[in-house]
Amino acid sequence: MKTIYEVLAGWGALRYYWRRVWEQPQTLIGWAIYRWLVRGMKKDRRLPPGIARGSYDGALICEVSWRWGGVSFGEYIYVKRLVIASTQTVMHEYGHTRQSRMLGPLYLPLVGLPSVLRRLWAMKVVRPLDRERWYYSGYPERWADRLSGVMR
Ligand SMILES: [Zn+2]
Repeated sequence: MKTIYEVLAGWGALRYYWRRVWEQPQTLIGWAIYRWLVRGMKKDRRLPPGIARGSYDGALICEVSWRWGGVSFGEYIYVKRLVIASTQTVMHEYGHTRQSRMLGPLYLPLVGLPSVLRRLWAMKVVRPLDRERWYYSGYPERWADRLSGVMR
């Protein structure tokens, strides 16, 4: 007979594989970016463009050198190097991880797309001083903040 720990471990493994199926579109993108970053690191050892810094509740947190503050694809969270110390940014991205777990295949159309469009709108239309406040006060950013307990 199985112990309670073995049963729970079995459920954990099932959840792990289920998430790979349920969140496949964004997980594949996140994984492809990770592979690309690792390849870049192997080519140029002086300037590693990305590195995994740790994990939080099953999400892999990677530090990257691009301009955007943060972006999440399934279990992969990418945050800008300079803001790696900002817990708020990492937690906000973890909010997107939770959205991905809830929405599965609908994450990219319902969260990813509006997020990108609102970011572009903020850059083109919203006054620089109001950009951050405007961006994080609407859907789906406020929801991600709420899911991860970020207070702005
Ligand atoms: Zn966001």
